[in-house]
Amino acid sequence: MDSQLHVFFFPFMAHGHMIPTLDMAKLFASRGVKTTIITTPLNAPIFTKSIQTTKNLGTQISIRVIEFPAVEAGLPEGCENVDQLHSEDMLANFFKAITMLQEPIEHVLQEGRPDCLVADIFFPWATDVAAKFNIPRLTFHGSGFFALCASEHLRLYKPQKKTVSSDSEPFIVPNLPHEVKLTRLQLGDHDKEDIETDFSKFLDKATESEMRSFGIVVNSFYELEPAYADHYRSVLGRKAWHIGPLSLCNRQVEDKAQRGKETSFDKRECLKWLDSKTPNSIVYLCFGTVANFAASQLYEIAMGIEASGQQFIWVVRGAKNEDDNENWLPEGFEERTKGKGLIIRGWAPQVLILDHDAVGGFVTHCGWNSTLEGVSAGVPMVTWPLFAEQFFNEKLVTGILGIGVGVGAQQWKRVASDGVKRDAIEKAVKEIMVGEEAEERRRRARTLKEMSWKAVEEGGSSYTDLNALIKELSAHRS
Ligand code: UDP
Repeated sequence: MDSQLHVFFFPFMAHGHMIPTLDMAKLFASRGVKTTIITTPLNAPIFTKSIQTTKNLGTQISIRVIEFPAVEAGLPEGCENVDQLHSEDMLANFFKAITMLQEPIEHVLQEGRPDCLVADIFFPWATDVAAKFNIPRLTFHGSGFFALCASEHLRLYKPQKKTVSSDSEPFIVPNLPHEVKLTRLQLGDHDKEDIETDFSKFLDKATESEMRSFGIVVNSFYELEPAYADHYRSVLGRKAWHIGPLSLCNRQVEDKAQRGKETSFDKRECLKWLDSKTPNSIVYLCFGTVANFAASQLYEIAMGIEASGQQFIWVVRGAKNEDDNENWLPEGFEERTKGKGLIIRGWAPQVLILDHDAVGGFVTHCGWNSTLEGVSAGVPMVTWPLFAEQFFNEKLVTGILGIGVGVGAQQWKRVASDGVKRDAIEKAVKEIMVGEEAEERRRRARTLKEMSWKAVEEGGSSYTDLNALIKELSAHRS
């Protein structure tokens, strides 16, 4: 038997899952583990360049491509990523295609004979498939401990269905270490309603499969959310390893710049522009890779940033077709903000930007990767959750960590999100960028940044937990 441990990683086809999985595979590889990432043809380019760079450093990392049954599942040909889905029907078909991937994955495991399969929560069949080959399946959610605990308590106790009479009446998420209040408006349909749908059945299967898995790998570090890391393990009884922030495995400028999608955008120009600015003078706005805004909301954002008087980098991922038709931009906006602001249309090198000294604030949708990247960069945040578990993450950043200010987003909405006015944007941006409270928030953010870096260094909490996991996998094999 080969003495080197071989781990297969199978991420869900969304950037917020593939990017941290790539980092995770690189991290395992840097500890002497042989790693293989399984993906589909059109998602492969997200991994290839970075894998080549890592390989050149002598680590064992590779990629294995399987076909994605888009057409068989009723999707257009070439639809292989969540960011290509524009309707609920497409989303449903995407999950149909996910179900069909069981067979090709069995084939890959048969051929490759790995020692462990790290598979995303969205592959409910993965625990059973791994069991067929007598190997452990680890589950990756992509969320932090706080959100994992909060969503588990909603699932178990259903306060959103029992204790409130309207969608806007706050309820308390029971049994958490802090008092956390949410409204039904801030939840997705599957959390809100009791109706059994194909998607709710899919999620039930995913949870059941996770419970039977070998454990959960979490992109977080202990010092960030200690009460919730403990709660998840001892109260909810889950076996979990915290090994993040995963983005910190990218140390070189090139690693950070290669993260995610290829872009025609000139990264050197962006860095040059940032170099010309004073520390903490730029606010960076980006809302992830899935959700999008209504044109009217983009207009309000532009008006809000301009009114705040702050310098900015704004990443705009328009609704379909809006990229070509930019009549949502206020007239003369780009001329008026020339030199003061930069609009990036499409993909931005986010970690590269956040890590620059000139960036002093982050307006974020609270996707977990972005949240953790903001923490690791030590920047205070304006929280603007849109969907998924982002409303939970907002509570952590604002209420518990004290490093963010909420913009006042009220409603869970994945497509064409709207409703936040320019005044609220102006106020929240000013609040994180200027004044005494802003300085205090910045100090707290810096402390967390230092903690995050320590966690991944030799002897740190995440470093040690990854060692423990690798040891356990080796013991399981022998
Ligand atoms: N990202 C990036 N450039 C962009 C948009 C996103 O590098 O223009 C990266 C970001 O750094 C993060 C991921 O894409 O690692 C988005 O994940 P997150 O969980 O924040 O949000 P999601 O896209 O899943 O909603």
